[in-house]
Amino acid sequence: MKFFIIFILIFSFTMLSSCMKGKKVDLVIHNARIHCLDDGNNLVQAMAIKNGEIVEVGPDRQIMNKYQADEFIDGAGKDIIPGITDAHGHMFYYAKQKLRLDLNSCKSYEELLVRTEKYQENGNKMFVVGAGWDQSLWGENNLPNNKKLNALFPSIPVCLYRVDGHAALVNDCLLKKVINLPTNVDGGEIVFENGVPSGMLIDNAMNLVEQYLPKNHPAEIKNAILEIQEELLAYGVTGVHEAGISYSEIKILQDLVDNKSLKLNVYAMLLDSKRNREFALKHGIYSYKNLTIRSFKMFVDGALGSRGALLKNDYEDQLNHRGVQISSLKEMQDLSDLSIKLNYQLNAHCIGDSANALVLNLYHQVFDAKKDHRWRIEHAQVIDPQDFKLFSQFAVFPSVQPIHAIDDSKWAEKRLGKKRLNGAYAYRSLLEQFGMLALGTDFPIASLNPFLTLFAANQRKGKDNLPKNGFEVNQSLTFQQSLKGITIWPCFAAFDEYKRGSIEIGKEATFVVLKKPLIEQNEFSDNFALFTFMKGKKVYSGEELSF
Ligand SMILES: [Zn+2]
Repeated sequence: MKFFIIFILIFSFTMLSSCMKGKKVDLVIHNARIHCLDDGNNLVQAMAIKNGEIVEVGPDRQIMNKYQADEFIDGAGKDIIPGITDAHGHMFYYAKQKLRLDLNSCKSYEELLVRTEKYQENGNKMFVVGAGWDQSLWGENNLPNNKKLNALFPSIPVCLYRVDGHAALVNDCLLKKVINLPTNVDGGEIVFENGVPSGMLIDNAMNLVEQYLPKNHPAEIKNAILEIQEELLAYGVTGVHEAGISYSEIKILQDLVDNKSLKLNVYAMLLDSKRNREFALKHGIYSYKNLTIRSFKMFVDGALGSRGALLKNDYEDQLNHRGVQISSLKEMQDLSDLSIKLNYQLNAHCIGDSANALVLNLYHQVFDAKKDHRWRIEHAQVIDPQDFKLFSQFAVFPSVQPIHAIDDSKWAEKRLGKKRLNGAYAYRSLLEQFGMLALGTDFPIASLNPFLTLFAANQRKGKDNLPKNGFEVNQSLTFQQSLKGITIWPCFAAFDEYKRGSIEIGKEATFVVLKKPLIEQNEFSDNFALFTFMKGKKVYSGEELSF
């Protein structure tokens, strides 16, 4: 009898523990504020993770009682959000920028000259390539010329890209290398002053000198990409939509995947070139571990800052000028046909209202053929009010960069005038049309910090908390919408929403434990990742939790 009672007790205990603590998982995170960003916008305390996937989310007690885990992490009340995806960035451009003279935040043309001179002298460079200047930061509306640059560097070629990468200031020494310099360039502009080139090359005109620039070694680029990856992971960014890569850059990404050093999910858009088209025709939808290639990037116009954006009417600050159309209608149609054939997505860079209208109408043809095409317009910056409805009618996915709105707010009205500004940076209007909005930073043109994007989208202000009352605040997104814009919506824009982008059962356990509380507020609060997890593995650790 005694034996029987002991047996019953042991049996009951085993039954109890197998019922209550029966399920074995790899990791349980509890005592956290987990923003699932699912359809119900659930906020839960705990989640269980096995084999890199989320197996359950719910209240602390439910998850703690139900699961045995190899590791339990006490979240100490910290906020957790899904891994952040930057819907529009340029890792390769940033990598090259890291290897070049950095002219970001130059406060005057003189400062640009001093920095260029020092850089040349320090490395005894025989060729100077720099990037990052922005004349609006030295209070100048017009683009500079190369007179002072020529005086400083009569015999060393110099090429200095504007911050947006859509214009370059080059000296005469470099211009002279171009045999038979044309006066007109399709999809670009060589700026002339009093009949002579001023040294400013806009959009396609930059191609004239690019072939003479010194090339970076792939190993240098790889190292720079890995540095950028660490910067991104430290902010909880686990995915990047790389907005335009060349054929040689595909190889670099493949190598980084092969040696397991690429941790980020990279959704790379192909630039339109013969070799990239061959790649697409050969591979179709290409998925190689965390690298996905299934889209083309098309440049329809240039940038507003360098007056390359294609407008329906004249620039407010330059009569008889309506910007630059980089791709012809025939080229766009051709790439669109190829994309349909390959089941590829087409992502068109459109800044001006005319560029946006051109592409919306081009996509109209696709809409008839394929309803859930998710073809995108990158930037969608200036929209003619009568064209907003076309985003909804033709199911076009807008992909925008809220930090640009803030940066451009200082001079956008000069370029566009008050009336046209109403349809510019109009993110709420775009969201109302399509129901989703992919948010990106466009780094390195703007900072890769996604919390600045969150702040700019929600408060319509920059890091310095300016403009005081926000820029066009009627176009602000709610905090929840802004969060979705950096997590789940970019995943929809890359066809991988079923795998990641929200914290839900069956999805990859890719998420960020944030260092500071995530709260909507009027003052910018910089935030960082305490931990960044991808597929249940810690890929970044800001500092160890001390409790
Ligand atoms: Zn871009």
